[in-house]
Amino acid sequence: MRQVKLKYWHQGRVVLTGDAAWCATPLSGIGTTLAIVGPYVLAGELSKTDNYAQAFANYQKIMQPFVKEGQGTPQFVISALWPRTRIGLRFLRAAMKVAGKPAIRKLFSKVFLRNSNQIKLPDYGMKTE
Ligand SMILES: Cc1cc2nc3c(=O)[nH]c(=O)nc-3n(C[C@H](O)[C@H](O)[C@H](O)COP(=O)(O)OP(=O)(O)OC[C@H]3O[C@@H](n4cnc5c(N)ncnc54)[C@H](O)[C@@H]3O)c2cc1C
Repeated sequence: MRQVKLKYWHQGRVVLTGDAAWCATPLSGIGTTLAIVGPYVLAGELSKTDNYAQAFANYQKIMQPFVKEGQGTPQFVISALWPRTRIGLRFLRAAMKVAGKPAIRKLFSKVFLRNSNQIKLPDYGMKTE
């Protein structure tokens, strides 16, 4: 599995959000959050202007740091968890055997946990009944 990072999430009148725009891999642990926050920001930016191109650009600018944080899982970890060779598979099985040990758990948390404070949610003044 290889992570592909799109430079732009929009073209013309078409805009992507969630995994379609920035799939952070199942390992990020923050894909669902991104998939909720992204449409919130997109809707908010669209509500502020009639210029959809500007709204798309603002949406990408606001989301980018948070998405970057979500995509921060190192490539070697992604490759290790989707092995393509017998040796890779053996390595994965050996790693899974020790994965529950406290020191390894701590290391895994450091590598995997993403910081959800990478975005300050804009207040678009949307009212809920
Ligand atoms: C194994 C696994 C574990 C994960 N664990 C976590 C976790 O612990 N924490 C976390 O935050 N995230 C996790 N994720 C990631 C998270 O599930 C995704 O980031 C999130 O679901 C993305 O939401 P989305 O709405 O962008 O896309 P999706 O949830 O993929 O929704 C897209 C929808 O569009 C539909 N669709 C596709 N093509 C068409 C079409 N042509 N017409 C109509 N409908 C279509 C699909 O059927 C689907 O229902 C995990 C993912 C996987 C695969």
